[in-house]
Formats: sequence, C-alpha cells, structure tokens
Amino acid sequence: MAKKQFAVIGMGRFGYSVANSLSTMGFDVLAIDSDEQRTQAVSHIVTHAVSADSTEEEALRALGIRNFDVVVVAIGEDIQASILTTLILKDLGGPVIVVKAQNELHGKVLQKIGADKVIYPERDMGQRVAHHLASPNILDYIELSDDYSILEIRANSAMIGQNLKELNIRARFGCNVMAIKNGTKMNISPDALYRLIEGDILVIVGEKSDLTKLELAYSQI
Ligand code: ATP
Repeated sequence: MAKKQFAVIGMGRFGYSVANSLSTMGFDVLAIDSDEQRTQAVSHIVTHAVSADSTEEEALRALGIRNFDVVVVAIGEDIQASILTTLILKDLGGPVIVVKAQNELHGKVLQKIGADKVIYPERDMGQRVAHHLASPNILDYIELSDDYSILEIRANSAMIGQNLKELNIRARFGCNVMAIKNGTKMNISPDALYRLIEGDILVIVGEKSDLTKLELAYSQI
C-alpha cells in the first residue's frame, strides 16, 4: 500500500508538531506557511516546505494539493484565513480536510462548509489534563462526540483479582469495557470472566454523564 501523503498548512506550534510527528512516523509531509521564516524552520524536518498563501486558490492548485490524502489546516489566529483555506480545499476536492478550530463558533462554521474533521487541541488537552489531575489513575480521556467519551483507567488494588462480571461496570454505570491494555499487550473485547491483574488499564466507552459517575465512584471501587 502506498505511503499516505500529508500536507500541513500553518506552522504555528500545533501545525509544526503535527508535521514533525507525521514526518518522524515516516510519512511524506508537505509543510506550507505564508511566513518564509516558519517554512525555513521546518524544512529540515519534512519532505517539502513551501512558502505560500493558502487563501490563494492558484497557489494550492500549483502545489498539487488535490493529490494529497489528508490536509491539516492549522491556522489559528487568523480565523478568516482558516475558513477561506478550508473552502478552497473543499472546492478543489480530493483530500480529507482536518481543521484546527479556535473556538466553538469557528468550529461550527468549519463543519458547515464541509471540513471532514474539526479539532480543538487546547480544549481537548485541557479536558484530558483535568481528568488526569482529578485522579492520577485516570490515564486518558478522549471525547468522541458531544455525548460520548473514552476513559482509560488503571486497575486499582481493589479491582485486581476481580473479573469483569464481578466489577459489573455495565450494569452499575452503563459503560462498556472495550479493551484492556497491559504494557504492549492489548485485549480487545475482553471476556466477562477475564480477571484483572497488576498493570491492567481498562479502556471504557460510555456516555459522558455515566463516565463521570464511574470516575467519582472509582476511588471507592
Ligand atoms: P499555535 O498553533 O502556535 O497555538 P495558532 O494556532 O494561533 O498557534 P498561529 O500562531 O496563528 O497559530 O500560526 C499559524 C501559522 O499559520 C503561522 O505560522 C502563520 O504564518 C500561518 N498562516 C496564517 N495565515 C496563513 C495563510 N493564509 N497561508 C499560509 N499560512 C498562513
């Protein structure tokens, strides 16, 4: 299978981090920024770095943006440029369009004009950090939609030795244990009779309100 081709527009802290990570993973990355200095700074990391204004349709066309698999629009401050760029990309057709939103309203507009995925890095990272701070055993919190999230919790001493049926998470909280991780091992759809061992991390999906109840009760489980 051919390697996925990515383009990242906007080399602020977020765009730079996305481009750098994709590049480290071995993908081809085209980095675009209207600021020459920013493109220079990333040029040694990515496959290509180009200075261009993404609000100019011709510039994007000339870069062959239609041939990429995914384009990430990481322009934050200049909301107008972010929206215009997304519109042009949508019009040109081709790649999956992922756009960073500055706030809810910006996100709504992006969704309306056809962005395939809208991300809110500051909001999402804030949530994840807060859940982890509230209980250090909450390892991660990932929002799936307005109503649903995924929670990762470390099995505490009271849980170790119990099986999933005994823990009864579905009946007590209405949430489902999707997987159990331990080190590099991953047990997908674990059996109800699976008995938890030291180091197990439960990956749980559910409605946010149910997950909150589980989080609160968790310290007493
Ligand atoms: P951060 O990701 O650092 O939190 P941010 O989301 O506020 O920051 P900016 O600092 O605004 O992002 O950085 C966005 C980058 O996008 C800048 O490097 C800027 O030069 C670039 N940029 C802004 N408008 C355009 C455009 N029309 N075409 C290409 N690049 C652009």
